[in-house]
Amino acid sequence: NLASGDSIRQRFLKFYASRGHKVLPSSSLIPDDPTVLLTIAGMLQFKPIFLGKVPRQVPCATTAQRCIRTNDVENVGHTARHHTFFEMLGNFSFGDYFKKEAIVWAWELSTKEFGLPADRLWVSVYEDDDEAFELWSNEVGVPLERIKRLGKEDNFWTSGVTGPCGPCSELYYDFHPERGYFDADLGDDSRFIEFYNLVFMQYNKKDDGSLEPLKQKNIDTGLGLERMARILQKVPNNYETDLIFPIIEKASKLANVSYGTADVQTKRNLKIIGDHMRAIVFLISDGVAPSNVGRGYVVRRLIRRVVRTGRLLGITGDGMGDLEGAFLPIIAEKVVELSTNIDSDVRSRSHYIFEELKREELRFVQTLERGEKLLEEKLANALSNAEQNGTAPCLTGEDVFLLYDTYGYPVEITKEVAEERGVSVDINSFDMEMEKQRRQSQAAHNNVKLAMGNGANIAENLPDTEFIGYDNLYAKAIVQS
Ligand code: ATP
Ligand code: MG
Ligand code: MG
Ligand code: MG
Repeated sequence: NLASGDSIRQRFLKFYASRGHKVLPSSSLIPDDPTVLLTIAGMLQFKPIFLGKVPRQVPCATTAQRCIRTNDVENVGHTARHHTFFEMLGNFSFGDYFKKEAIVWAWELSTKEFGLPADRLWVSVYEDDDEAFELWSNEVGVPLERIKRLGKEDNFWTSGVTGPCGPCSELYYDFHPERGYFDADLGDDSRFIEFYNLVFMQYNKKDDGSLEPLKQKNIDTGLGLERMARILQKVPNNYETDLIFPIIEKASKLANVSYGTADVQTKRNLKIIGDHMRAIVFLISDGVAPSNVGRGYVVRRLIRRVVRTGRLLGITGDGMGDLEGAFLPIIAEKVVELSTNIDSDVRSRSHYIFEELKREELRFVQTLERGEKLLEEKLANALSNAEQNGTAPCLTGEDVFLLYDTYGYPVEITKEVAEERGVSVDINSFDMEMEKQRRQSQAAHNNVKLAMGNGANIAENLPDTEFIGYDNLYAKAIVQS
């Protein structure tokens, strides 16, 4: 099956191998780089080469890199194309070939190797990159109306606050060409999917934000495996590809629902489980144990979201042998089964992974059950007060703080449950409660710095989303205990 995820990965690597690229293994999700928390792209393992700090071993290379993007956590289940865990297929040139080859090969790969119809493809270039524009137009022959000039946000790629960067050019697939090209918006998830990004890496962004030209001109690219699988498998979203859907089916079975006939919210919940379980398993396999800081907190947060989402769907692991009611290890088994061609080490670590999951899940369920009771009381109070006073129902910062501080009940869950009941949460006054406690606890001072460092690291990769807001709150909270 040429359209299977495994086959797409293999065909990509082979395509570039036959064009002189050395096939290299994926690096760990824990980068060897203090400026980023987790591996967010294929280029990270080559950063020292791009910066000229380490001599290149080969002129060009190709990889299938496992990646985590926590900045996309809020998109999971909402867009058709974003995951927290995904594989990025990449071809890299270390001062070898540059724009022309990168563009011509990307086109050949897309249209010949993967067989995408040329008239379904659109491209974007950085607004002032006339060279890339010319290449797409004259060298490749893309019609002018399907080449868009876009600004920094989309078409200038940086790996972090500092580091190698440059203008980029992206390839998009059009699911609805009948909508015409006037006003076509490449960011419209219902029509387009960005699947390949070619970065013309020629600068180093310094601490002061200035751009210093690199000695060599490099190429760094990323093609989303799940996105190409979605296109070639002709399914409505990445989640329904053979890379993820078996996990969703497993969760559906435990929840006793059928994905095909489920409502939108149920489908979304199943997608969250399918997505997060992959991230969780690969992170633990790479050595990230659940904890309250940094990477460990990313895993803990994802696990908690799966537990909570599973409970909403009515999933428990009751009656499943020695799992004591935990269900994450059952779903994780499916992830391990699918992991062979992504990371062959996962299988040998599976026993450890299941043990970690079981322990973390059971501990969290205890917390949940204690907090749930109190939260119910607080919600009932808020609702009856609101009715008496004719105001909008709201949980006070003190309530949320009590749940958090005394019962260990996560703020993000308080907010989620409250909102399901139409009750808002006074996060500002909760924040003030946190501040108050922090000021009282002088001893925690050094820890605060440490944890804020981690928080800042997370925030670095992440634009401000709601989820991160809680993270930061939580990061502040963690150091109190
Ligand atoms: P988008 O605009 O869709 O968020 P991006 O521009 O942030 O994607 P890049 O940083 O250019 O993505 O990464 C290169 C490629 O990796 C993308 O073209 C896409 O195919 C894939 N990719 C990026 N983020 C994700 C994600 N969260 N889930 C799955 N694939 C992704
Ligand atoms: Mg993105
Ligand atoms: Mg983009
Ligand atoms: Mg991009």
